[in-house]
Amino acid sequence: MAETIAPFDKSAASDPSSPPSPRAAPHTPAMRQYVEQKARVGDAILLFRMGDFYETFYEDAELCARVLGIALTARSKGSHPIPLAGIPFHALDGYLKKLVDAGYKVAISEQLEDPKLAKGVVKRDVVRIVTAGTLTDASLLDDGDDNLLASIVIDSDHAGLALVELVSGLFEVVDLAPGSLLDELVRAKPAEVLIEDRRSGPGESTAGALEQLCATTVTRRPAHEYTAYQAEQTLLAHFKVATLAGFGFDAMTPALCAAGALIGYLNETQKTSLAHLGSLTRRGGDDFLLIDHSTWRSLEIEQTLRAGSREGTLLWAIDRTVHPIGRRRLRTWLRRPLIDRPRIIARQDAVSYFLENAPARDGMRTHLRGMADMERIAGRVALRRSGPRDLRALGDAITALPDMVGLLRASRIGILDELAARLEGLDALGELLQRAVAPEAPAHTRDGGYIADGFDARLDELRGLKSNALTWLSAYQIREIERTGIANLKVGYNRVFGYYLEVPHASRSKVPPDFVRRQTLKNAERYITEELKRHETEVLSAEDKAKNLEATLLEGVLDKAVERVPDLLAAADALGRVDCLAGFAQLAAERRYTRPTFVDEISLLIEEGRHPVLDQTLQDAFVPNDTIMAPDRERLFVITGPNMAGKSTYIRQVALLAIMAQVGCFVPARRMSLSVVDRAYARIGASDEITRGQSTFMVEMIEAARILHGATDHSLVVLDEIGRGTSTFDGLSLAWAIAEHLASKIQCRCLVATHYHEMTELAELFREVRNLNVAVREVAHEESQEERIVFLHRIAEGAADKSYGIHVARLAGLPQPVIARSREVLRELEHSFARDAKSRSLAKNKSRNDAQLSLFAPADDALLQALRAVDPDAIAPIAALRLLADWKDRFAS
Ligand code: ADP
Repeated sequence: MAETIAPFDKSAASDPSSPPSPRAAPHTPAMRQYVEQKARVGDAILLFRMGDFYETFYEDAELCARVLGIALTARSKGSHPIPLAGIPFHALDGYLKKLVDAGYKVAISEQLEDPKLAKGVVKRDVVRIVTAGTLTDASLLDDGDDNLLASIVIDSDHAGLALVELVSGLFEVVDLAPGSLLDELVRAKPAEVLIEDRRSGPGESTAGALEQLCATTVTRRPAHEYTAYQAEQTLLAHFKVATLAGFGFDAMTPALCAAGALIGYLNETQKTSLAHLGSLTRRGGDDFLLIDHSTWRSLEIEQTLRAGSREGTLLWAIDRTVHPIGRRRLRTWLRRPLIDRPRIIARQDAVSYFLENAPARDGMRTHLRGMADMERIAGRVALRRSGPRDLRALGDAITALPDMVGLLRASRIGILDELAARLEGLDALGELLQRAVAPEAPAHTRDGGYIADGFDARLDELRGLKSNALTWLSAYQIREIERTGIANLKVGYNRVFGYYLEVPHASRSKVPPDFVRRQTLKNAERYITEELKRHETEVLSAEDKAKNLEATLLEGVLDKAVERVPDLLAAADALGRVDCLAGFAQLAAERRYTRPTFVDEISLLIEEGRHPVLDQTLQDAFVPNDTIMAPDRERLFVITGPNMAGKSTYIRQVALLAIMAQVGCFVPARRMSLSVVDRAYARIGASDEITRGQSTFMVEMIEAARILHGATDHSLVVLDEIGRGTSTFDGLSLAWAIAEHLASKIQCRCLVATHYHEMTELAELFREVRNLNVAVREVAHEESQEERIVFLHRIAEGAADKSYGIHVARLAGLPQPVIARSREVLRELEHSFARDAKSRSLAKNKSRNDAQLSLFAPADDALLQALRAVDPDAIAPIAALRLLADWKDRFAS
């Protein structure tokens, strides 16, 4: 290697924020270049291309050696060694992935000219900075998962979120309430989030929570990038417009500030055209069924609570897509179930069609299976990072589209027709790509050979010269053997000396004078001749010319593809949607799912519903259950029953089926009808929130507060064992009051699973409340005649048996005296509890404090209060009559 690294004062480089000063030591030009670039890339690791290696120096070298497990060496001339660690250029992808996965940013400095031709130091520059949220290389991305970069703005009154997926061109903003920002973020699960560098405040805490929940990388950006002025300037320059009004924005909003900062970051790190981020979608905070982040987690929609795995989640259960684009789209759909009935019905129509037309479904899926990831390739095309293999795959994919269009058009289903339209019009590009790029093209342009034969006459000619040259060489060898009489003379080639004639030492005496000696080996001597030299120049120049020509031709083809990026992305999106819809049909066919119907009146009717995950894992052992919330009947169900009876499963099942229905998916039920749900809330069990520094009970109450503030009469709420994390009376009181509020004030559809048997009394006080229990049966063992309990998992009307715990304990073999004593204690507790309630109620009433009531009286039912305050044994008949008249006046007239 021509360039050398000079000794350098390491102490000057120990702080990454103050890179080594160029004055610290006499540098070689290459090292000066390194130092200057390292100072520019901030906290990124700098990979500095030198020949066949990407080199790292100083702290970066030590870090890379540690994280990547590569050798740490030292470049030294004199007493100051420079730590150095290098990675071979062809192994970049693997190492890059490791660094990014470990949360580092990596700047890549490339050689911008051929080192052989460079005069002085080779020109180099940072060509991009790779970060977790800006990955585009196929080898660094997970096929089935999106890779989002988020930017957020949040204060006490407002919040804004901008999301970009660099490789698919998605760019959207949403302004929302501060309380909803984390919900949006958790559902989106970005790989990286940008926040204003303030070191404290709501931005920091939101990002911190996200880092914990989704392992998101947090990147702090200069505060000025988030100012309305700067952000607007960045966006105007990016979209090349004078105003953002055309995107539907009349004024800067927090989300636009976030978007501006995000584009600023991309400009800084990507150093390439971002033209494919050409449109900005503005979403409303409540255009979709809202699922807050704890509901998202509790319902295990894409990750299980315990193992954090995909297996066992709703996404896992319903995913029958066959293509990565579809797989990613399905996740987006689940993040945002629809609330617009016509849109849901449009999706359902397509699913029905594919369900009833198995050949169309199979045909579509077969086409999709063989297709390249058009969306990601289109994204790389836009960034001009697509290699020959990408382009050929794109060409092949495009040529498969017309058949798919035919299948979709034949359906005569509105939404499929619209999707078909998006797949049309790309034929010319597909044909060009197939004609231009060789079928087995390499991923990179490095070694040439990717442009197809027959595409360009000049290239074919140059390639002809090369193959002719090979024929010439063997003819030349024969000719020289005849001329010199050296029978074992060979023609060969090596990179250092070029073409040569090799003569074993034994035949040295026969070597003619025109052979010029080049190299001596152990057994042979190598020579060149004038003629061979001439030939070599011809061949090498033809090879060079061919390589350059190939590069130019590929650029031309790429230009054509770049022009069509928006259409390619639209087509890819359509493919993803078709894959989801056909996948839903496949699922419905496999597992006998049915099409839910939507009605106006608030209701939720499920006949023989099954839990989508357990239905698959337990197969036939799963017991289906009904859920009947008819209009104008009970909307709040209190479900009691012993542990492990199936309460949680039942209430989760209802929420999951509603979400599935609004995604457009069919459902595991004999029949389902519902009115559209606007928000779904699930508070299930106590998950490990302790790790976030809050007690479980505190978290439970925060979530209960969110539900009570956020739920509307169109919402669906499922609560599992609320009020468990505190003393019994506290917990019961809270659970009672929360359920009461939901039933009588909010009047949403609600299922409450509880071990507080007292809650079943709600049904006596509120017509909106109904009791259900999970049936169990005692059976006697055939031989031993011992009784045991069998969980039937069947939901039945009414409250569960009150002393169920004791009952179960008896069956479990607790000694008889203990069982008998526990029954006594229970009776005593119940009596004293009832007495207490009564006296509390009387005392309160005497003090004429109408607002405070006994525990189980509804807060606003004054008549019931008054009634509870009366002691019939103690009241005189005349007083009773007067009281009756008074009540009639107050309540019945
Ligand atoms: P609970 O909330 O009452 O303690 P779970 O809902 O957690 O009970 O259910 C306990 C177990 O019972 C589940 O893990 C599942 O294996 C089984 N189960 C629940 N519901 C059903 C059902 N409908 N059919 C078959 N098995 C069920």
